[in-house]
Amino acid sequence: MRKPIIAGNWKMYKDVNEAVELANGIKRSVFDVENVEVVICPPFTDLSDVGEMLTESNVGLGAQNCYWKEEGAFTGEVSPGMLKSVGCGYVIIGHSERRQYFGETDETVKDKIKAAIDSGLIPIMCVGETLEERESGKTMEVVRRQITGGLDGFSEEYLDSLIIAYEPVWAIGTGKTATSQQAQEVHAEIRKLLADLYPDTFAVSRRLLYGGSVKPDNIENLMNEQDIDGGLIGGASLKSEGFTDIIKATSRLYAEKKD
Ligand code: PEP
Repeated sequence: MRKPIIAGNWKMYKDVNEAVELANGIKRSVFDVENVEVVICPPFTDLSDVGEMLTESNVGLGAQNCYWKEEGAFTGEVSPGMLKSVGCGYVIIGHSERRQYFGETDETVKDKIKAAIDSGLIPIMCVGETLEERESGKTMEVVRRQITGGLDGFSEEYLDSLIIAYEPVWAIGTGKTATSQQAQEVHAEIRKLLADLYPDTFAVSRRLLYGGSVKPDNIENLMNEQDIDGGLIGGASLKSEGFTDIIKATSRLYAEKKD
């Protein structure tokens, strides 16, 4: 069975003191959760202190972005190696807000995935359609383009650690979650696409997260779907209680499924 992942994307929220406090609350609440991979992704400025706070805990640290070069005259950018040096194990790549506001393309996503993997970071690659694209029946066309473009030329061995998050843009931060059936439908298609591009074992073992207004009261329906292996959580990851409720519900469901 695929071990579920619950990852929190804190976006541009929490200064360093607030971040350490929130990370501490999460760390304490989930110290005994073993069957869910928990990750938090604070802003760059918080990573070092939060990384120290999470040492020897079962909560992983991720960044929300990285550049694709290791160093150089790239003012304002942060490299995967720098992220590793403050304790990051993961990095979100190609989030729709980065595609929408910062001009990221499938090409830059590909470069960033390569840089992340080369540095030993686990990439959480985000894909998803806008409302307009969904309404004109283009959901899978868009997701297929993002996946084939972002992973172009990489072998399945190289992508061994890859995690994919399906995040319909219309569901992010809007309170409008995709129904669990809508999410499952796309997840199943993504798995099918991966099976077309790579060996079956790669597709079957790939962890596919859903993101878009996930809350404690909808996580169970989502996690009950066959191809949903966890969540990328924005707003609801900014409070320890809501986030840990999501983690604990996921843990409980996973334990029940295993029995
Ligand atoms: C996100 O930022 O990836 C996200 C899914 O946000 P929210 O949960 O707030 O919709």
